[in-house]
Amino acid sequence: MTDSGVREVIVIGSGPAGYTAALYTARAELKPLVFGGAIFVGGALTTTTEVENFPGFPEGIDGPVLMENMRAQAVRFGAEMIDDDIVEVDLTGDIKTVTDTAGTVHRAKAVIIATGSGYRKLDLPKEDELSGRGVSWCATCDGFFFRDRDIVVVGGGDTAMEEATFLTRFAKSVTVVHRRSTLRASQVMQNRAFSDDKISFAFDSEIAEIKAADGKLAGVVLRDVFTGKTRDLDVTGLFIAIGHDPRTELFKDQLELDDAGYLKVEAPSTRTNIAGVFGAGDVVDHTYRQAITAAASGCAAALDAERYLAALA
Ligand code: FAD
Repeated sequence: MTDSGVREVIVIGSGPAGYTAALYTARAELKPLVFGGAIFVGGALTTTTEVENFPGFPEGIDGPVLMENMRAQAVRFGAEMIDDDIVEVDLTGDIKTVTDTAGTVHRAKAVIIATGSGYRKLDLPKEDELSGRGVSWCATCDGFFFRDRDIVVVGGGDTAMEEATFLTRFAKSVTVVHRRSTLRASQVMQNRAFSDDKISFAFDSEIAEIKAADGKLAGVVLRDVFTGKTRDLDVTGLFIAIGHDPRTELFKDQLELDDAGYLKVEAPSTRTNIAGVFGAGDVVDHTYRQAITAAASGCAAALDAERYLAALA
């Protein structure tokens, strides 16, 4: 095990929150060390194509290109990037330690956690390869691309009802597919969905197969969970709304999490329950879950860390 000295700040995560925290702390001359993950460098936006709602790009921008640009901007001001996972942390002392997969221990006075959250998947063949090509996890992000299309939404909770209702602004039709015979969503959300003419329901059903043609979604096969009977559903949009899991496993014994496992911060600040540890982006945020809100809270975490470090000096 080697030891690489005490840094001012370490950032864990290379999505919009992590890179923005890196940019701000780098410009404050804090020489941040950024752990970007071993396989998910650039975060969630690297799994999509066109991003049309990040301000500053009137024609839209490719998700991976946007993330490359954010990285380059942070590196330009001196952020150091290591594309590896952190597998162990000790955040409790004045000097925090994080350990990478090679067993190297990195020490810093402040740590910004921006590990994001993962959308739950159906775990079906073609699901990943069609992400951004008909398969989506975010109606706010992608609904606009589905004008006059037939869409299926999977899920039975509030998020699924919200996504389905929102999508009716664009879609020709929305079919909600749910494994049970009743919804989990709140009554008010159910009522809104039930009273919408564009929304229909396939209860006791699940997606058995995702079909592709020319690299795009070309329909799904539904299966009745009781009879096993299948039927084709002719759709060109599939929105998966079965929840997300914040990446907080590493921190759960040291930092306060809420009931859903998200990092708790003293809002509107990004301070966690441990001095010198800050949380930003989707690992904290249940509500907005957008690139711009993640970037904004990365900025806030950097400023909070900067002030914390200044007070130590
Ligand atoms: P993420 O982007 O999820 O990044 C988390 C980072 O943490 C990753 O780099 C990962 O490697 C790293 N990490 C995790 N664990 C560790 C560890 N142990 N060690 C080191 N690193 C670790 N939003 C929009 O505003 N517009 C859109 O058009 C849009 N489209 C989307 C399309 C798709 C398919 C998806 C999935 C999301 C989309 N979003 C969109 C949502 C947006 O991508 C997220 O809200 C945003 O990326 C959250 O940023 P983040 O920095 O908090 O986390």
